[in-house]
Formats: sequence, structure tokens, C-alpha cells
Amino acid sequence: GGSNRDSDARLDETAGLALAIGVEVVDRVHLRVRAPKPATLIGSGQVEQLATSVRQHEAQLAVFDAALTPVQQRNLETALEAKVIDRTGLILEIFGERAATAEGRLQVELAHLDYQAGRLVRSWTHLERQRGGFGFLGGPGETQIEADRRLIRDRMARLRRELEQVSRTRGLHRERRQRAPWPVIALVGYTNAGKSTLFNKLTGADVMAEDLLFATLDPTLRRIDLPGIDQAILSDTVGFVSDLPTQLVAAFKATLEEVVSADLLIHVRDIAHPDSEAQRADVEQVLEELGVGEGTPRFEAWNKLDLLDAERRDELLAEAERRDDVVAISALTGEGVDGLMEQVATKLTAGHRRYRI
Ligand code: GDP
Repeated sequence: GGSNRDSDARLDETAGLALAIGVEVVDRVHLRVRAPKPATLIGSGQVEQLATSVRQHEAQLAVFDAALTPVQQRNLETALEAKVIDRTGLILEIFGERAATAEGRLQVELAHLDYQAGRLVRSWTHLERQRGGFGFLGGPGETQIEADRRLIRDRMARLRRELEQVSRTRGLHRERRQRAPWPVIALVGYTNAGKSTLFNKLTGADVMAEDLLFATLDPTLRRIDLPGIDQAILSDTVGFVSDLPTQLVAAFKATLEEVVSADLLIHVRDIAHPDSEAQRADVEQVLEELGVGEGTPRFEAWNKLDLLDAERRDELLAEAERRDDVVAISALTGEGVDGLMEQVATKLTAGHRRYRI
């Protein structure tokens, strides 16, 4: 709940996120939480309902599309006899897996610690209230929690120093690249829109494996050949999700750094997704928050054309034909990808005359 999106779509999104880290989704259970239970969030009947599903499917993991306190998480794990994570935990997993740069990895670790620190405070307050009120000093739990918090604080301070160092180095890399007259093209878009599929289609599997300059930059940057343009660099980015937990915003921005300095943005959209319009709005909003202005040339790649029925397909193809900011493609089958390359070349030529064409 709590989202402006309808909860089925939210559940779909969460299932999509789980898929993105290689989790096989065997069941989705919709539970309405009227009065959140401190011990388990959901009611005991609902816990039983979940436990039955877990047993039936022999599931190893239960993902809650909600925020769980550590106490709730532990109790649910005992009751369900499965590992339990919440939405922030799930997104942290994804970021951890996808963070390709040293900076991105440090930001994710920082977010993880911040998340843990917040949970320590919450669980401590919670315990205190159970014990019967405030002013309870020197309790058995307190010193341990203080020690844990100090450890986390120290680790976070060290990570911040490392981050500063890494950001400086990265700044130098970027300067060096800016001196080289190669345009940078960034793929942006919602998680599961098809960015990686398109990235691989455009670059080929092992195009750049041995190119040292790029190898020192970032594994998600690749050179691509464009009609009439010497070289261009294509950058894959982490996917966007709705309602990003606040601890993750910095980590998210670090992974999106390439976007801010890109010469051209390709906004990849899953045009077959029922929530496609809302996803587009989310992505646009994040771009605005990142400070990517109207000045950066961009166009939309309407992806997954192959999933549409004939009527909808014709409709969208006709619209894409009329507009100069849309290309319709299937990253999977390769349909429309040549047209996309032409569009890239056109947009780069129009926006950036400094590149030799
Ligand atoms: P990303 O999260 O934006 O990088 O998305 P991925 O490239 O990982 O794609 C997400 C899922 O959509 C994968 O299962 C892809 O195989 C699938 N996919 C991507 N492009 C297409 C497409 O054009 N058609 C179809 N049918 N599936 C696609």
C-alpha cells in the first residue's frame, strides 16, 4: 500500500525486481494489512496462509513489498521457515549486483550500513517501549547496540573517505575522455525495460574486451560503431524503480553518473507493459532530479514490439513514424535496431557539431 500505483502493479514490479536478481517467483500473495502487528506486521492467520504457500512450493525466500523491522523479519523467518527480505533489502541486492564501478559499490555498501543503522535504532526503541517506557538507561541491550552503532559509524566514515578518493579519480577519467572527441550515449529506463538486451545487441558480446582505455573506465561502457561516426561510447545503467528508499538515492545517483554527462540519452521503454506510461513519468522525474536538462538530446526506444498484438503494433509503429523522438524496436529480435542506430547518428550530428562526421 501507500503507493499511488495500484497494488497489483506494485506486486508485479516487485516480482520483476526479484527476477532481476535471478529469483524464481513461485507465488504471489496479496495481503491487506489493517493494523500492523509489531511482531510480524501481518496477522497470525495471514502468517499461516503464507506458511502454507511456502510449504507447498518449497520456497526458500519470501519477499515482502513493505518495510519490515528486524524483529518482524526474524519472527517471520521463524514462522515461515524461509529467508525473509523486504523491499529495501531486495533493491540493495540488485544494486549490489549491478554496481559496476568502485564508486557505485562503495555507495551501495554505505546505503546498506545506513539501512542497518536505522534498523538498530528502530529495534532498540521498540524494545524499550516493550520494557515499559523511556528513561530506562543502561539496560542489557543498550551497550551492545551502542557498540554496534559505533562500529557502523566508523565503517561509514571510512567508506565516505574512500568515496571521495574514488570520485576524484573518476573525475580525472572523465576529463580525459572528454578531451577525446567521442560522444557518450547513455541507456536509461525502467528495470526490465530491456536496456541490457539492447546494450548487448548494439555492442556485440566481446567487442571491447581487450581495449585498455575502456577497460580502465568501466565494464558497462562499450565502444559502438555508428553509421558515419568514428566512435561512440555506449553506457548501460542500473534500472529505475518506483518509490526508491531514501537510503538508496545516493547509491542510485552514483550508478547514474554517466547519464548526467552523456551527449545523448536513449530512454528504453517496455511498451508492452501495462504500466508503461507511469514508468515513463517516473524515469523523466528522476532525470530531472539528477539535473539532466532538456538540453541533452534524447529519444525514446519503444521496446518489445514483438509482444504486441497486430493492431496495437500498427498503431504504435505509425505514431513512431510520425514523431522524430521515438523509435520502435525489439531488442530481442533486432527489429528496428538499424533505425535506432540511424536515429543516434542523426541526433548526435544535430546536437554536437564538434564531432567529426
Ligand atoms: P533491463 O533491466 O532494462 O536491463 O532489462 P533486460 O535487458 O535485462 O530485459 C528484461 C527482460 O526483458 C529480459 O527477460 C529480456 O529477455 C526481455 N526483453 C528485452 N527486450 C525484449 C524484447 O524486445 N522483446 C521481448 N519479448 N523481451 C525482451
